[in-house]
Amino acid sequence: MLKLTNIHKSFGDLKVLKGVDLEIKQGEVKAIIGPSGTGKSTLLRCINYLEKPDEGKIMIDQLDLDAKTITKQEIYKLRKSTAMVFQSFNLFKNKTALENIIESLVLIKKIDKRSAIEMGMDILRKVGLEDKRNVYPSKLSGGQQQRISIGRALAVNPKVILFDEPTSSLDPELVGEVLELIKKLAKENMTMVIVTHEMSFAKDVADKILFMDDGKILQEGTPEEILLSPTSPRITKFISRLS
Ligand code: ATP
Ligand code: MG
Repeated sequence: MLKLTNIHKSFGDLKVLKGVDLEIKQGEVKAIIGPSGTGKSTLLRCINYLEKPDEGKIMIDQLDLDAKTITKQEIYKLRKSTAMVFQSFNLFKNKTALENIIESLVLIKKIDKRSAIEMGMDILRKVGLEDKRNVYPSKLSGGQQQRISIGRALAVNPKVILFDEPTSSLDPELVGEVLELIKKLAKENMTMVIVTHEMSFAKDVADKILFMDDGKILQEGTPEEILLSPTSPRITKFISRLS
C-alpha cells in the first residue's frame, strides 16, 4: 500500500536519512522508535513531502513517485492520501472543534457545508467529543485537542495516518485517552505509522516496531522480536533506558 525505497535527506552537510526503506500494508500499524535526533520526524515529514527527500521513491497505491522527478500535482495527490498528526496539535485557535474538523472538507474537498457538518459530527462522535462541537481549542484539554487533531486527520479519509509523538506534549493523565483512540482506529484497520516513546503502547498497538538509529532502520520486527531479541546493543541499551 505504502512503500518507501532508499529515502535520503540532508540539511546542508548534515545527513539525516541515509537510505530508509519502509513498507506498510493496508490495515497495518507500524511504530517507529529510536533515540532523539535520528531522523524519525524527518522521515514522517518526507512521507507527505512536508520535507522533500533528496533521493528515493514513495509508492502509495497507484502513485509511484521519484524524488528526482516528482511534480507539484503528484505532491498534491500524495498529500491527499496521507494525513499527519503532530505532537503540538496544530489546531486553528479561532475555529471551533467542529470547524477544525470540517475545514478540509469544505476548502479542499469542496463538500457543501451541510454535508460537511454531518460528516464532521460523525467524526466528533468517533473521537468521543460530540458535546464539544462549538468549543474553541483554548477551552479544551490537551487530550481533547489531540483527539480533535486526529478527527481532522480522519476527515480527509487518508490511506495512511502518520503520527509524530502524539502524546508527548500531554500531561500524563491525558495520555491514555489519546492512546485509546489510536488503538480503536487500529482495530478498525486504519493504516498508521506512529513515532512514539511509549513502549508499552507500541507493543500493544503495533504489528511491527522499527528501531531507527542514525538515519537508518536498524531492526524491524514484531514487538516481541524487538523487545526480546534485539539485534544490536544500541537497541538493548535504548530499551533498557525506557523500562
Ligand atoms: P526526536 O526524537 O528528538 O523528535 P527525531 O528522531 O524526530 O528526534 P528529527 O527531528 O528528524 O529527529 O531530526 C534529525 C536531525 O535533523 C536533527 O539533527 C535535527 O537537528 C535535524 N533537522 C531536522 N529538521 C531540520 C531542518 N529543517 N533544518 C536543519 N536541520 C534539521
Ligand atoms: Mg521527532
